Amino acid sequence: MHTATVMSTAAPVTVSFSCAGFQGTTLIDFPGRIASILFTGGCNLRCPYCHNGALFTVSDDDLMPAEALREELDKRHDFIDGIVITGGEPSLHPELVAFAREVKDRYGLEIKLDTNGLDPAFIRAMLPYVDYVAVDLKTLPERYYLLGAQAGAGSIRERLRETKMLLTGVTARVEYRTTMYPPVVDGVETLAAMLELVPPSADLYLQRFIPRNAWSEEAQKSASFEPAELEAMALELRRLTGRDRIYLRTYS
Ligand code: SF4
Repeated sequence: MHTATVMSTAAPVTVSFSCAGFQGTTLIDFPGRIASILFTGGCNLRCPYCHNGALFTVSDDDLMPAEALREELDKRHDFIDGIVITGGEPSLHPELVAFAREVKDRYGLEIKLDTNGLDPAFIRAMLPYVDYVAVDLKTLPERYYLLGAQAGAGSIRERLRETKMLLTGVTARVEYRTTMYPPVVDGVETLAAMLELVPPSADLYLQRFIPRNAWSEEAQKSASFEPAELEAMALELRRLTGRDRIYLRTYS
């Protein structure tokens, strides 16, 4: 449990970010930590299986004012270890860099960043303040158009390679994860090719795709891999690539 009290600083620290949603406590989204979750609005992808479709478009009226967020953190910081910054896609909000620094200065909390990894400049700027980075690697760059990407495959590959380089050898814990949505991740060969974009030291989680709560009808009707199939794929992927930090999240 985090026990630091509010730090005194020479200049007053004002935690100022208006978020699209806030959850006071999670025991599962920041491994090994009790954390609050801060949701950001907007995303540069439209993954058919996304469970956060309500965050694609958030009007100013729906934002939680910065003062309200600050009050929540003032109230909770002694009872949590950290904050998860998730989306939507946080990298659409460059002001989060200053917010993360303010959170560190004012509360000394740990920060976990969830991102799709398509904005390496944002990740570079956030790295001094984050303790855990979770990158959603969706599929092969050539298939990102199926997830609504506006950029071409070459640009997607370049950005993901840069993100990989940035996250290689950092002190922050690094997790990559792939939602096993069959229309874009169809088997072990695809996964093995995707590993080119994953730092060797990172954990890779294969996450079971859960059709319910997907925002698109296409995904709601799609089949999902069974846990036993995912287990076989993870074992085969380990054998093929020699990587042993490959795990499952089956949510069952
Ligand atoms: S990148 Fe994440 S938030 Fe954006 S559409 Fe895909 S799953 Fe949803």
